[in-house]
Amino acid sequence: MPDIEQLKREAEARRESMIAMRRDLHAHPEIAFEEVRTAGIVAQRLAELGFEVQTGVGKTGVVAVMDGERAGSGHTLLLRFDMDALPIHEMVDVPFRSRNDGRMHACGHDAHTAIGLTVAELMAARRAEWSGVAKFVFQPAEEIVAGARAMIADGALENPRPDRALSVHVFSTLPTGVVAMTDGPTMAGSAAFTVTVRGRGAHGAMPHQGADPVVGAAHIITALQSIVSRNLNPMEQGVVTVGYVRGGTAHNIIPDTVEFGGTTRAFDEAVGRLLNERIEEIAVHTARALGLQATVALSDAATPPLVNDPIMAEIVRCHARRLVGAHNVQTDYRLMGAEDAAFFLQAMPGAFVFVGAGNSAKGITEPHHSPRFQIDEDALPLAVTLLTASAIDMLNDAG
Ligand SMILES: [Zn+2]
Ligand SMILES: [Zn+2]
Repeated sequence: MPDIEQLKREAEARRESMIAMRRDLHAHPEIAFEEVRTAGIVAQRLAELGFEVQTGVGKTGVVAVMDGERAGSGHTLLLRFDMDALPIHEMVDVPFRSRNDGRMHACGHDAHTAIGLTVAELMAARRAEWSGVAKFVFQPAEEIVAGARAMIADGALENPRPDRALSVHVFSTLPTGVVAMTDGPTMAGSAAFTVTVRGRGAHGAMPHQGADPVVGAAHIITALQSIVSRNLNPMEQGVVTVGYVRGGTAHNIIPDTVEFGGTTRAFDEAVGRLLNERIEEIAVHTARALGLQATVALSDAATPPLVNDPIMAEIVRCHARRLVGAHNVQTDYRLMGAEDAAFFLQAMPGAFVFVGAGNSAKGITEPHHSPRFQIDEDALPLAVTLLTASAIDMLNDAG
């Protein structure tokens, strides 16, 4: 087991360089599949540290591999960090504010990249302490849940094939010094649906001459609210949200079509299927009852639930307890948000840990994806210590 106090000192010694790196990335945010500058910095740094680096994996992703020097076969551990920003105009007035208008690191992926590079540095320096293969995956396009799939399609899970996974998210709505590591599902699976309601356009004053898809869409959207309340087992969790409605052009025109779309969330894949099936049934049949036609399309932008392996999760929790105390380790933290690290953890046992990065005393309380989002940088050395210690154990553990 790695010496956690020593690791903590090594992470603290890199605090300033890590914060500088994070602030530089924060000032230069790049959105999905445009992470060219970020990937360049990542690839260069990993090469300097002695990793074998591959770029352009899943468009702008970077994969870097290093063998441990400790005797024993060890495991192949995938360490995944996401790099992308969001199309948001930053409203935080800090010296390292976004210089790319309409682009902002409002989810903390700048911190993830800086944490990942610092973990890589500590791992490289402690190569003699671990066996197996450390495979770092710096992923693009998490925010559109496309990057993990793109990297996997490009061979990120081959040569060598990882058999364990570790990933992290800093979280502004958990205080710094709190770690959340939950067994089983911790983030929801998601799907996106689009409903098109077709009627027959007419004059708004003579509705009997047409078939009104506006009224149809209203009925369908209202009826969809019964899925969670009436079709879902009350002991399960699910969400059906309609996020947009588009249709019509003028006060006095009944349009031909109305389109609306939304998202479903569930921790269980069977529940997810139930939600999507009921959306289709309700849309098609409600439309028909009103003399309209509805079609439902599910988009590719779906993710499976993010499921932690209890054995991998316990390795992380064990170090978390030593770092922040058992009372600061949450074990039942679940979110309906989706995260495409789920694709990696679907392929192998893994742990996805939340590291608190909120601080009300510093006024850092804004939720993720807010234009006023900030993180408490004190969380960075803690995350590095936790991940490095966990990674070394996951690599060496014979289990
Ligand atoms: Zn996000
Ligand atoms: Zn995120």
